[in-house]
Amino acid sequence: MTNPFSLSGRIAVVTGANTGIGQGIAIALAEAGADIVAVGRTPPVETEKAVTALGRGFLSVEADLATTAPIPAIIDATVARFGRLDILVNNAGLIRRADAVDFTEDDWDAVVDVNLKSAFFLAQAAGRRMLGQTTGGKIINIASMLSYQGGIRVASYTASKSGLAGLTRLLANEWAAKGINVNAIAPGYIETNNTEALRADEGRSRDILARIPAGRWGRPSDLGGAAVFLASSASDYVHGSLIAVDGGWLAR
Ligand code: NAP
Repeated sequence: MTNPFSLSGRIAVVTGANTGIGQGIAIALAEAGADIVAVGRTPPVETEKAVTALGRGFLSVEADLATTAPIPAIIDATVARFGRLDILVNNAGLIRRADAVDFTEDDWDAVVDVNLKSAFFLAQAAGRRMLGQTTGGKIINIASMLSYQGGIRVASYTASKSGLAGLTRLLANEWAAKGINVNAIAPGYIETNNTEALRADEGRSRDILARIPAGRWGRPSDLGGAAVFLASSASDYVHGSLIAVDGGWLAR
């Protein structure tokens, strides 16, 4: 019997796969059988080691997603090496913190350009490729609790992640009947570089932990199961959904 969660023979592009959630997802996809294209600014040394140790193919594509300029080369390099592109995980992202009254245009643009603009145009480029394949494809956007909630002191991040949730639904509407599944994972509070400042703030850290029913912060590996599900044929009838992987945060 074929395993609907198997990613054997599939090619997955994961942005920001050198660390944190992107690394956790890249390794989980490789464990399920996928070959990995890691896209980002920093060499994904650890991720490469983990993926190749599993016997999967690995390609590193250096790209700064602060602009859309590297996007065509990402698709070209993937197809040149592996001949196809089945899965895109739009994970690269950053956060800037300041009170709304002091929020600068630089803090707005830096976040929105990577988290929203490049994510959309990479999905567009991957979608064009997938639409030309008889086997379709899977696009997974990494959203946030701030795709549902307002947050505080993170105006551009909230705008980007709320926007990404909307784009997930829009792309699903346009591509669901064409063999492409577009969905999102909304991580809760996960121990990564992104949340280092939050975890260092004793008061905020205690308040956050007190609201998590699971009683602990998440780890990058906690996102693996949802990513494999959304990347595999097990989710073929799932379109435009946000799956919260949050230790129960939203249920509170
Ligand atoms: P992280 O450890 O800081 O990872 C962020 C990744 O994005 C890194 O690989 C980083 O590369 C990459 N990146 C940032 N700017 C980039 C750019 N201009 N070009 C290319 N790559 C860039 O944080 P993380 O928590 O794993 O974040 C991954 C995603 O999860 C983000 O979209 C974040 O918003 C989202 N998320 C995180 C949490 C959480 O609690 N941690 C919760 C919800 C959503 P460098 O290493 O080179 O900087």
